[in-house]
Amino acid sequence: MKKILGFIYRHRYDIFSFCILIILVLFVFVIFPKNETKNIVKIIENKTFDIRQNIIAKDKHVNKDIVIVTVDDPSYEFLIETYGDWPIPRHVYAQVLDYIQAQNPKYVAFDLLFIKSLNRIPQSDNQLVQAFKKYQNTYTAFNFDDYSFELRTPPELDKKLSSDVEFNAENVSPRKFSNCRIIMQEIIDVTANVGHINTPKSDDGFIRSIPVIVSYPEYNKEDYTVIKNNYYLYMTLKMAIDYLNKYENANIKKLSIDEKNQLLLGNRKIPLTKKGEAILNWYGESGLTNPNSFKYVSFWEIIKSIQAAEKGQKSIIEPNFFKDKIVYIGTNVFSLSDIKTVPTGKYFPGVEMHATFFNNILDNNLIKKASLPINILISLVLSAFAVFTVFRMRSVMESVITFVLSIGIFLYFSTFIMSKFNLWVWVAVPILMATFMFVCSFLIKYLIKSRDFEYTYKLATTDGLTELYNHRYFQELLNNKLETAQKNNEIFSLIMIDIDFFKKFNDKYGHQAGDAVLKHVARTLKANVRSDDYVCRYGGEEMTIIINADKNNAVVAANKLCKTISSHNFELSPDLAVNITISLGVSTFPENGTTAQELIEYADKCLYKAKETGRNKVGNSDV
Ligand code: GH3
Ligand code: MG
Ligand code: MG
Repeated sequence: MKKILGFIYRHRYDIFSFCILIILVLFVFVIFPKNETKNIVKIIENKTFDIRQNIIAKDKHVNKDIVIVTVDDPSYEFLIETYGDWPIPRHVYAQVLDYIQAQNPKYVAFDLLFIKSLNRIPQSDNQLVQAFKKYQNTYTAFNFDDYSFELRTPPELDKKLSSDVEFNAENVSPRKFSNCRIIMQEIIDVTANVGHINTPKSDDGFIRSIPVIVSYPEYNKEDYTVIKNNYYLYMTLKMAIDYLNKYENANIKKLSIDEKNQLLLGNRKIPLTKKGEAILNWYGESGLTNPNSFKYVSFWEIIKSIQAAEKGQKSIIEPNFFKDKIVYIGTNVFSLSDIKTVPTGKYFPGVEMHATFFNNILDNNLIKKASLPINILISLVLSAFAVFTVFRMRSVMESVITFVLSIGIFLYFSTFIMSKFNLWVWVAVPILMATFMFVCSFLIKYLIKSRDFEYTYKLATTDGLTELYNHRYFQELLNNKLETAQKNNEIFSLIMIDIDFFKKFNDKYGHQAGDAVLKHVARTLKANVRSDDYVCRYGGEEMTIIINADKNNAVVAANKLCKTISSHNFELSPDLAVNITISLGVSTFPENGTTAQELIEYADKCLYKAKETGRNKVGNSDV
């Protein structure tokens, strides 16, 4: 036992490191990969992304050349009053487009679907088609979905709407859709500036990223088996490519995704997730409520301006407002359900998401997720620091404060690098892991401490050779026993034991053999008394037992011990067995004494009598 304890003591830091390692392995391979844990951690991680985005949004500035024309509530009411039901006749959009294009904007994009089947008024529709034909810097959108084939036969998409994409990254697979809602063919006939505007939400209903590239099949018309999958671009990406080619000579012909999963746009790189999504870098609350964000113009203001121009009156919108602008046209009416929730706002029109993406491309600041090794490294460093605070700090308070501070610094650091390098490093996992390690380290520290204490306590109270209680502790035990016995009127006895002719034994067989005998006697004594009796080494080859027994029982016990020792031949070596005897004396509280000294003296006297009268017996001082 002593050897084991000693071993543990000497190797306590190795054992500790080993425990930490086991815990880490458990955490990384057992607890963390569980799906439920992953989901919870993912939700927390997403929330920390939102918090960081809200903090850094304050320092970001939108590009003032991007403006949004919106069908807001007043516009919606005005349009319904003027034209009857929604959707309004499409020549209205043609007029609005004419108005904007007259001021030479760079680009105009409709975040509105000119659905093939809705409210067809041929003449009105044709005006819009002609406008699209005329303005090749104008974009519009369609939507993918996964509706049942029974509900809607998946339409065939015009080849010119798809894009060639070269994938050099192994594990990226763009989101697949199986059906889609097609817009007026007449528009597609006159322009290829048509992209999708699907924006799937995360599990928590937030939109943090957009599917830049998605895939949609070319079906066999007979049985609707997939012939091949084609790639389709997000409307804003299409527009951005044209913008970069035209204004920055980017010369982007074929889209390519590099090994690091980045979409290459000239000298810009858009980091993509495995699903082919780009994580947006948000500019704070919507421009509807945030004057520092995108400028909104109401749709009705344009109509009124058109009408004013016809009448030769002053326009509501300042002249040339749209010159060189990138104009998005969309709705922010609840009933038209284009309101999203994003990290920096609960009420965020879909059209502003497109503006955000375009602005992100121009600023080249789309968010990139840090790689797994970096995230693991950060987690390990923070965990190591947590362990360090526990083992190197003197007080619990000091450790807790340092740990909390380190978490604070880490949070600041993670926000800083998101703002500076657009890098999203994990926050949830490192903090969870570090907290876990912090708590575990405390547990282990106190486990080691209690072991240390146990060991020191043992060192202080026991005799190294016999593992009996030592002389000092015997005195303490005896005094305690006297105190409680006095208080509770209890009786107990003290047996003193001395090995017979031990000097001779030592002389004959050597001290080592003597030591072995001492151990043997100590073991035998301990094995033959009850667990609440104390066997101690008084000194030399003298031992004592504080025994919970009256005189008679104590004498009986002493006799039994005497007999047990003498009847057992002690094997010194395989071919040498020797016989050992002991002499004993018994004193009992309170009849033979009420102090430690009196009891020891009386027992000693009895022991002396035993020696005097032949040894190997329990002495009686009255004889
Ligand atoms: P008696 O029967 O009268 O007790 O004879 P004795 O030789 O045992 O006499 P005494 O009790 O005075 O002897 C004490 C001896 O015990 C002296 C010493 O050689 C031996 N002794 C004391 N402590 C140890 C020890 O730790 N190891 C060994 N081997 N011998 C010890
Ligand atoms: Mg002696
Ligand atoms: Mg002796």
